[in-house]
Amino acid sequence: MTRSEVLTGAKLRAGRKALRMSQAELARRTGYSRDTVRYWEKKGVIEARCGAFQAFVEALGLRIYSRSNARARIWGLTLLQAERERLEERVRAERARLREREVAKAAHRRVCCGARTRKGRPCRLLSEPGRRRCKFHGGKSTGPRTAEGRARIAEAQRTRWARWRREMGKDLK
Ligand SMILES: [Zn+2]
Repeated sequence: MTRSEVLTGAKLRAGRKALRMSQAELARRTGYSRDTVRYWEKKGVIEARCGAFQAFVEALGLRIYSRSNARARIWGLTLLQAERERLEERVRAERARLREREVAKAAHRRVCCGARTRKGRPCRLLSEPGRRRCKFHGGKSTGPRTAEGRARIAEAQRTRWARWRREMGKDLK
């Protein structure tokens, strides 16, 4: 709803001019006097449709709304907007809840350990909750704590990556 759709005398005048109709002609067609036409065309915003104005509007085939009507339309749109925002908020809350639940489940999930045992077979024990390995294969480990321990892990990982790259390279040749 735009302001221009509010019912005004100027709107009526513009509608009449658009049809190249004189005030006298509009008066004749509606059965009112030319003074009445002039009176309504000089009015600003028109609050309620009276008989004469309604007749002019219909004679000119205009579609315009009274101010109270326009306000009701705006109010309706505001309600729609508020409703949509409430809905979006509910969807957001539901997504956050699912994500939280997923994180909580991951923290308790137990998978097959799979670490290579001394016999060369994969370990068949379940991992510690939320970890990848069982308690015998580092599932309870909280990672290296000392600088020396961290360096050792970093070195082991570098070695492992280097070996992996070498083997991939071999496959590619
Ligand atoms: Zn294990």
